[in-house]
Amino acid sequence: MSAADRTSTELDFDVVVVGAGMSGLYALKLLRDQGLRVVALEKAPGVGGTWYWNRYPGARFDSESYSYGYSFSPELLQEWQWSEHFSPQPETLRYLEFVADKFDLRRDIQFDSRIKCAAFDEAGKCWEIETDEGVRARARFLITAVGPLSAPTLPRFAGLDSFEGPAYHTARWPHEPIDFTGKRVGVIGTGATGVQTIQEVAKIAAHLTVFQRSPNWCAPLHNGPIDEEAQARIKAGYPEIFRKCRESHGGFLHMSDPRSALEVSPEEREAFFQKLYGEPGFGIWMGNFSDILVNPEANDFMTEFMRRKIRERVKDPEIAEMPIPKNHGFGTRRVPLETHYYEVYNQDNVLLVDIREAPIERITPLGVKTAEAEYELDILIYATGFDAITGAFDRIEIRGQGGQTLKDKWADGPRTYLGLQSVGFPNLLTLVGPHNAATFCNSPRCIEQNVEWVTDLIRYLRDNDYERVVPTRAAEDDWTKHVYDIAELTLLSKTDSWFTGVNQNLPDKKRTFMAYAGGSPAYRTKCDEVAANGYEGFDLQ
Ligand code: NAP
Repeated sequence: MSAADRTSTELDFDVVVVGAGMSGLYALKLLRDQGLRVVALEKAPGVGGTWYWNRYPGARFDSESYSYGYSFSPELLQEWQWSEHFSPQPETLRYLEFVADKFDLRRDIQFDSRIKCAAFDEAGKCWEIETDEGVRARARFLITAVGPLSAPTLPRFAGLDSFEGPAYHTARWPHEPIDFTGKRVGVIGTGATGVQTIQEVAKIAAHLTVFQRSPNWCAPLHNGPIDEEAQARIKAGYPEIFRKCRESHGGFLHMSDPRSALEVSPEEREAFFQKLYGEPGFGIWMGNFSDILVNPEANDFMTEFMRRKIRERVKDPEIAEMPIPKNHGFGTRRVPLETHYYEVYNQDNVLLVDIREAPIERITPLGVKTAEAEYELDILIYATGFDAITGAFDRIEIRGQGGQTLKDKWADGPRTYLGLQSVGFPNLLTLVGPHNAATFCNSPRCIEQNVEWVTDLIRYLRDNDYERVVPTRAAEDDWTKHVYDIAELTLLSKTDSWFTGVNQNLPDKKRTFMAYAGGSPAYRTKCDEVAANGYEGFDLQ
């Protein structure tokens, strides 16, 4: 990308895409197929987004691998082989590199480029972009593909920098392998990332201390290799795999059971829960009774079942109580999938520390000091999560009409139309943005929908000589209300989690609802209707 001549009115690009992860790569491909001048700016030195950064031990899919890959190219589907039902991170990163090479995408990606600011030029109807490296460019459209979980957060402990050993955030993991052999390791955080890390590190470290503030309801992943027969079945079955994903609420292979948990006998309910517990993947969350996530009484049945499972799996009855969540029901936060996670607490080399009982007071040169004890460590791992969904936007100064920043506009919670645009920010399109169904979805399934819809919109604008698109206030108000109304019907909105924007490391972040809980089929239908009606709800100029 060359530095733009600031006095020229000519645009450098039709579109600048921010990010070269799963959504950025596909956006780049489709925009280039339209013959547009497009560049993707990526802050990492390589492609992959989430799968580039999250290379901590044990990182892998919680979605079936074959439901996760891109569906747009039959050739790609036949060429690529997933080796496990739930692929580990190195394989997924290789897959995205393979995609980038196959479609020759790298030539239009500027790596090591982080957008510092982007401002809408009302007169030129374009975005002026500047990177940290001082490169400037002007483009008609700005498409963000920044990912919902890409802005890591660290605790605000006293003495954070004082630890003398190496300390890592899971989302900024080094590229060299870390050897835990003979080491005393500490992990802070027990979300999906912490769980995957803990069960891996516990196999190798001399001693592992897990600092747990809030336990989560974890369910077995049941991963395994894909043998030749299964491979052939998968390759022949892709149309059916993607059909199922299209029809399911969250874009997964798991369809919700239409029955209520209350309408069946206790024996039938138990047998169904037991069946789900024994099956791979998210069936237990997404394929459960239809009212598990909306009716507290139904949820209690499942929660009690999971409580029993933890008590069965952790041998010491006192320790077994510690990883049992006390403040939320099953599935109301994102369910971590695990492989022998609970059994880790039966190991002699693992200690579970409840930091709600005895909070961390400070990080010391030697380790972690809680209200009760100091734990000496050689390596400290922060699996402390992200400034979810809006964090990556807030880290860029995005200025729309009248100089307002997106961060200020969304300070009390996001306001969008379809999770794709926001009033005051013309020609800015937010893939997997807040209040977009892709935030509560088997990501690639919804990413493909988002990218195809947005790139179709751009084609429509160009075909009809429009230079500017922005939602109407009424459309934004209606969508925002709809998002909150739907969320209110679920138990997810009643629980603190990244879905509700609660992150105690970010005391200024308001509690709201960040995702869209209405499901991807309903969202897709709405988007299709909007397009069929000449992009109703958008002001086209
Ligand atoms: P997370 O779910 O937000 O978990 C962060 C953990 O760190 C929580 O246990 C949290 O405790 C703890 N924590 C944060 N700050 C702390 C502090 N100051 N002191 C003590 N504990 C602290 O983040 P995550 O585990 O990285 O997962 C985020 C999302 O990424 C997941 O929900 C999932 O959607 C995605 N993910 C996907 C996969 C996959 O597909 N396989 C794998 C990993 C992650 P509190 O709950 O008390 O705040």
